[in-house]
This record gives sequence, structure tokens and C-alpha cells, in this order.
Amino acid sequence: MQRPSHHLDLCLVPADPNRKAPDRVDLFDRFAAAGFTNPDGSAGPACDALVQGGFARVRLDVPGAMALYSNGQGGFRVFCPRCATNLTAVWSGQPRDPGGEVICGCGATSRLDALDYRPPAAYGRWAVVIADAADGQITDAGGETVRSFLGEVRVIGRRVVR
Ligand SMILES: [Zn+2]
Repeated sequence: MQRPSHHLDLCLVPADPNRKAPDRVDLFDRFAAAGFTNPDGSAGPACDALVQGGFARVRLDVPGAMALYSNGQGGFRVFCPRCATNLTAVWSGQPRDPGGEVICGCGATSRLDALDYRPPAAYGRWAVVIADAADGQITDAGGETVRSFLGEVRVIGRRVVR
């Protein structure tokens, strides 16, 4: 029997939350043309050029609503961007609207998407997910190629059990 184990996904979340999700077919064509994946999204011959050590597959995640891409199983903490007070407990009581606001004891009012997440987290309506990544980041050259497909993105590491 296979035991569940920890996997690392890299979520490429658009820096502009209003950016439209890419066309799925077009996106997979581009990833395949770069050699990052095969046409079905599984790791391609040049997967190493995107993530050192490779990955299992790439998929487009479109949850249908604003989502917070975060560290997942590992959890994360949230801090005031001005005074660095831990606001995790205040944040937890907020609806998951990035335009919502948290008021810190120091007087700073911050939008949820402007708070300091550690490790990094990002709100988005879609993400390109690189599943089972062997490394915690994408390569510089791979990042440049991916940004030419997707526009500016933030790379969020997410630990999952499956
Ligand atoms: Zn503060």
C-alpha cells in the first residue's frame, strides 16, 4: 500500500488579479513548444529548464472565484506591512476578499492582499500549477519564458499531501 506523502506544487499566480485566465489549449501548446511539457501537460523533455530536477505535470487551475494560493499544509502567518505585528488571528476572521481590510494596532489599515504573508501567499482567480516540483522555485530562464506566456506572475510554493 502506498503511503500518502508530501509534495510541492509551484503555483504561478498572476500579479494582476484582474488578468484573464489564459486559453487552456493555447497555454498547453506554448508549454509543449518550449519543451517544458508534453501536449497532455506531463513533464516534457525540457522540464529541467523550467524547474531544476523536473516536475510531474502542469495544469491550469481556475477555481471559479478569488482564491488564496498559499503554503497549504505547511500553514503561514500574516504580518502588518508597516510594523510587522503578527495579524494572523485577525486575518483568520476575515472573508477571503483581497479588497477587505485589516486594521492593525499601529493604526495602519491594509488590504488583505497587501499584508505580509510568510511564507508568501497570493490572491488570484487562476494559477498555472506545476505539480510535484523537485525544487522550490522556477529557473530564471524558465521564468522569463513563462512570463512571456502569462504576464507577470508570483511563484507560490504549496505543500500538499496526496
Ligand atoms: Zn501595524
